[in-house]
Amino acid sequence: MKTEELLALARRARENAYAPYSGFTVGAALLSRDGGVFLGCNLENASYSLTLCAERAAIASAVSLGVREFERLALVGGPAGAAPVSCPPCGACLQVLTEFCSPDFSVAWESGGVLTERRLCELLPSAFRLKGEKNA
Ligand SMILES: [Zn+2]
Repeated sequence: MKTEELLALARRARENAYAPYSGFTVGAALLSRDGGVFLGCNLENASYSLTLCAERAAIASAVSLGVREFERLALVGGPAGAAPVSCPPCGACLQVLTEFCSPDFSVAWESGGVLTERRLCELLPSAFRLKGEKNA
């Protein structure tokens, strides 16, 4: 699946975001190695620290169905109802991605009609790992 197709699915997931406090809606589309796509959106809470990012929602969806190998992630986020702004994963999401993804895992997001794509190891170069994998 092409990155553009995955971004289109992330746009659709963004429509389901629950962000009554920040008004910043995010959609994620996570492609597994076997070709499955898992969607996520951010969901906020009145107790702000319980907010879940779209990326972690997508990973939780996949892992709960037994899928643990991923190829790429697409993100679309910004103020609700407005065009996407630059929206790379936050540090917490990068660390969670590190648990399941290789250093070469691809993360893409769009802003102003421009597609940005980076490898996980570029976004979190000194990731904490217990599995003995080395950062690229
Ligand atoms: Zn996050």
